Amino acid sequence: MEGKSRENVVVDANVLLMDNVVQYLQKYRCFTIPEVIDEIKTIRHKVCVEVLLDLKVLNVINPDRSFIDKVLEIARRSGDISSLSRTDLKVLALALQLHEQGLDPLLMTDDYTVQNLASRLNLRWRNVKIDAIKRRIRWRYLCTACGEEYSKYLEECRVCGHRLRREVAGYEEL
Ligand SMILES: [Zn+2]
Repeated sequence: MEGKSRENVVVDANVLLMDNVVQYLQKYRCFTIPEVIDEIKTIRHKVCVEVLLDLKVLNVINPDRSFIDKVLEIARRSGDISSLSRTDLKVLALALQLHEQGLDPLLMTDDYTVQNLASRLNLRWRNVKIDAIKRRIRWRYLCTACGEEYSKYLEECRVCGHRLRREVAGYEEL
């Protein structure tokens, strides 16, 4: 691995609870906070976390107070504060700290509040599951008036002329 530049990622508990987490995270340089490690309760996943720590794939850092305060301020202004847990707050603070220290990290999270705040803080983020599962959404299009269903988007319903809306029809494994 030495010499090759691995992508820096900040991970929350959802990432560490993935089935194939050791294999999946080995291609990255991962960072998280002590509270995320504490959230891992099952033996099976605790073992995986130990392995990642031993391999130095996973690094645990407590973010500085100033970055926590900065995230708090943004969360108060955006109204996200009510749905933001202490752990989420600190994960964001860590991503911000690494970013401001010149490390370009990608925040992996499926938490909508965290994603929203990451965007406001100009931090890059990505969903965990989309990448891990490799599946594609199949859409269908339904007429908003008569309910006629189409597999492709049309400007208007062929039956009654009203607009169509898009809906998830299912998933295809890739
Ligand atoms: Zn229609």
